[in-house]
Order: sequence, then structure tokens, then C-alpha cells
Amino acid sequence: MTASANGEYRGVWVFIEQVNGEPAPVSWELLGVGRQLADALDVELAGVLLGREVAGLVNEAWAFGADRVYLVEDPVLGPYRTTPYARALVELVNRYKPEILLLGATSLGRDLSGAVATALETGLTADCTGLHIDPETRLLEQTRPAFGGNVMATILCRHRRPQMATVRPRVMPLPSRQEGRQGELVRVTVPFVGVEAGVQVVEIIAEPGKAVYLDRAEIIVAGGRGLGSRENLRLLEELAGVLGGTLGASRAAVESGWLPPGYQVGQTGTTVRPKVYFAIGISGAIQHLVGMQTADVIVAINKDPEAPIFKVATYGIVGDFLEVVPALTEEFRRQLGGGPA
Ligand SMILES: Cc1cc2nc3c(=O)[nH]c(=O)nc-3n(C[C@H](O)[C@H](O)[C@H](O)COP(=O)(O)OP(=O)(O)OC[C@H]3O[C@@H](n4cnc5c(N)ncnc54)[C@H](O)[C@@H]3O)c2cc1C
Repeated sequence: MTASANGEYRGVWVFIEQVNGEPAPVSWELLGVGRQLADALDVELAGVLLGREVAGLVNEAWAFGADRVYLVEDPVLGPYRTTPYARALVELVNRYKPEILLLGATSLGRDLSGAVATALETGLTADCTGLHIDPETRLLEQTRPAFGGNVMATILCRHRRPQMATVRPRVMPLPSRQEGRQGELVRVTVPFVGVEAGVQVVEIIAEPGKAVYLDRAEIIVAGGRGLGSRENLRLLEELAGVLGGTLGASRAAVESGWLPPGYQVGQTGTTVRPKVYFAIGISGAIQHLVGMQTADVIVAINKDPEAPIFKVATYGIVGDFLEVVPALTEEFRRQLGGGPA
């Protein structure tokens, strides 16, 4: 069944992503922006929770702002598989008709959103950096970088419903959690006939050494081409070690082979929102800035006083990192008494 834009579709929905019952924090971030959209439209904000024995997350969804949670619990929704998850979400949309559906731009969210949008024959805007309601038309304005990040495009889905968008982790701020906030729970049963014939998950094996949780890091010490060599990364590792931070990299540093791709910050890397971001030997190309400019504090170290990174920096240090970084490490070590608290 497909849907054109008419008044039948109402409400803002957020897909609450979980893996083994562990929620993806981007779901709560989406409830934050979802709240603003729902208020602008004067409609309800709902979370959609799919999985096997995941009802424990309903309270969390209420605490982060959902007025209602649609819950589908079924053994078939254990380890994520596209077909049953898409079947459940499409069924819910067709039954309850939300006008907006938001998902995290995680691996799971990207996979699911594409499958669901295709089945619903509606539009999907991936990796949005801004979501707003046009008060006159009530349409969702979906802003995202286009043409290699050189322009910001605002995309509308005028004729189909729901209007679907994905947002990367850490792009939207985490709303404050309201302990004890209650909402409505709607348990839904979905017929999963035939889905078992598809993909079976035999075993899930985590790739050792691969997990870099840049999007959750509070302090990131990132290096760019200006480092000049892999060996010079050692200075950044020392600074990160003293501060209890994580390394990050520009694409140029990754392409030079100094750090694996999982460390890349930016448009084609990870979007980060740490408390402190050190940009060391990074010029500040727009594709890098879109991934880090919402950090609370940005410390830029660059020998070129005209480097664009200084436009977004909270503190700018013009100088050679070979001198500046060891001096900073030394001072932080002295202040912190040898290591992070
Ligand atoms: C479609 C597309 C997607 C992209 N996605 C990304 C992305 O996700 N992430 C990303 O980072 N880039 C991305 N890029 C690449 C981006 O355009 C830039 O090329 C890249 O960010 C540059 O990396 P850099 O700042 O490390 O290198 P440069 O631009 O070469 O800058 C190096 C800087 O180091 C400074 N420097 C040199 N020596 C020293 C020293 N001794 N001490 C202090 N400073 C020094 C220089 O003054 C200079 O400012 C993308 C590009 C495209 C087209």
C-alpha cells in the first residue's frame, strides 16, 4: 500500500534502535529533535520499538520524550534482519499513519530505512543535519550537505507519506532525560508469515580491534596531513593518553595510512560531538568541519594563521605542532597529576 500526502497522516515517529536490548543513543537524540517537530505541528511524538524482549526500553523512550511507544516483540525480531524488521515497520506505518518517520543513520538504520521507504514508495533523505517544520505548509524541511559538502540542500517530500529522514549519531543534541515520565504503550502483533525463509543469522562475531566509538568520545585528539608522518602520531597519542581521549583523523591522514578508516571524522567519516576536539595539522575543509563543528570546545593547532579551521575554533594556536603538542601534554600532565582522573 502506498500513501500520498493527505490529512490522514499525523504524528512524528522515531525508530528506537537496539541491538541485543542495548539502545542506540541516536534514538534518544532523535526523540529530542522529534519533540521540536511534534510541537511545531501540534501532534504526538511516538517511538517505535521492535525486537525480542525489549519492553524494558519503553520507560527510557518515555523519559526521553515519547508520548507513546508502539512495541512489537517477537522472537523473529531477535538479531537484526532486514525482512522482518521492514515488515514490522511497514505494517505499523500502514496501520497508524505517521506523517514523519526518523531513523538513526547507523548501519542498521541505513539498511532498514531504505527497505521501508522503498516498500512504502515514499521519499527518504539520508544523513540530515537539520530538521525543521515549515509553519505554512507543515512540510518537513530536511537539510543535508550536497555536492561533496559544498552546499547545504533543503529537501522536501511534498507528495508522499511518511516523510522519512535519517540522522547520524551525535548530529542532534541529547535531550535531558526526565526520570519517571510516563506515556502510552501500544503493543502490536505483526504477522511474520514467510519471513523465516530469508536470511538466517548463524552467529555474530565482533571484529577484534575494529570498534572505535568516536561518536561517543568526550575528548578527541585529531590529526591531519600536517602531521607529516605516522611516527608523529605518537605526540597525539601522548596528549590523548594524558587527557583520557581518543584519537581521530582527517581523511588526508587516513588516506596516508596513518590511522584506519574507523578514525576518520567528517562527511564520509564519523560525526562527533565531544566536549573537546583538538584539530592538529588539519586545515578545516568543509567536509571535515561538518563532522566536528558542534564540539563544545575546539582547539586548533596549525602553523597557517589563515587556515579555515580557526573560523570554528574556540582556541586557536598558531604554531608548529611539533612544539605546541608536547608543551600542552606536559602542562596537562602537570595539572592533572600524571594522568586523567
Ligand atoms: C566527497 C568528499 C568527502 C570528504 N569527506 C571527508 C571527511 O569525511 N573527512 C575529512 O577530513 N575530509 C574529507 N574530505 C577531504 C577534504 O576535502 C580535505 O581534503 C581533507 O579534510 C584535508 O585534510 P587535512 O586538513 O588533514 O589536510 P590539508 O588540507 O592538507 O591540511 C593540512 C594542514 O596542516 C597544517 N600544517 C602543516 N604542517 C604543520 C605543522 N608542522 N604544524 C601545524 N600545522 C601544520 C597546514 O597549514 C594545513 O592547514 C572529503 C572530500 C570530498 C570531496
